Amino acid sequence: MAALARKVEPLRGSADAETVYELTGVGKTYARNRVRALEGISLSLQRGSFSSVIGSSGCGKSTLLKIMAGLTPPSAGRVTINGQPVMGPRRDIGMMFQHATLFPWRTTLENVLLPIEIRDGKAAARKARDRGADLLKLVGLEGFENVYPNELSGGMAQRAAICRMLVTEPDMILLDEPFSALDEISRDFMNMELQRICTETNATAFLVTHSIAEAVILSDHVYVLAPRPGRIAEVIEIDLPRPRTLDMITTPRFGALVERIRTRLDQGDF
Ligand code: ADP
Repeated sequence: MAALARKVEPLRGSADAETVYELTGVGKTYARNRVRALEGISLSLQRGSFSSVIGSSGCGKSTLLKIMAGLTPPSAGRVTINGQPVMGPRRDIGMMFQHATLFPWRTTLENVLLPIEIRDGKAAARKARDRGADLLKLVGLEGFENVYPNELSGGMAQRAAICRMLVTEPDMILLDEPFSALDEISRDFMNMELQRICTETNATAFLVTHSIAEAVILSDHVYVLAPRPGRIAEVIEIDLPRPRTLDMITTPRFGALVERIRTRLDQGDF
């Protein structure tokens, strides 16, 4: 798996960690209906860190993710990845959504290689087959390379979607409730898998979620958004040791962090 590992230093959360992604004073007003979806969003994500954003429905989470992905331009502020402005969709940003949306007529491996085929053509995708197979192994799908999506469970399809997101070696991964369509047991398991994969590939991750527990178990920082206009109400540092394990959910520290976020969400105009 050495081929998948990228430079690991500086360590997660260390003082001199390298900033990968930065938003400065980002705002968004939709021209069509004059809705002020976001205002004054500033955040800085360090290489290898995991952050989550949580907030009530309509508080601007999807808008924030679309801006971060370069799919929607902000109306104010600055967005950069590795110091370069994000002006549109980029190769160094990977995204994953609630549904895996694998193409049924392509095998698992062909689905994983699709971003390379679209970007660099069929020959490049053929050359990347070993890398795709390595990624499938990383997520426990060894032996399923040539299987079609209708033979995969929901969790397996999401694992394949993780590989498809990672195949272009993005610097930043954006996750929009990737496991919310799965049952609770599969979801817990996939979250632990996501942590392991992010650690092994030193990915910098940003997750939109409705689940406070999910945000706490995965993140180094949780951004609590307040609505109308969407703004950062509080950034909560999650000081649980790594690697995180599911039994931490029953610890007093985990409970205190969940309670703090819940209280913040219950306050004022949430
Ligand atoms: P969330 O993801 O937290 O539910 P959204 O980012 O979808 O929030 O929406 C934030 C606000 O922006 C809402 O009031 C929503 O109605 C509005 N909004 C979202 N997308 C658009 C759009 N394309 N055009 C106009 N208004 C939008």
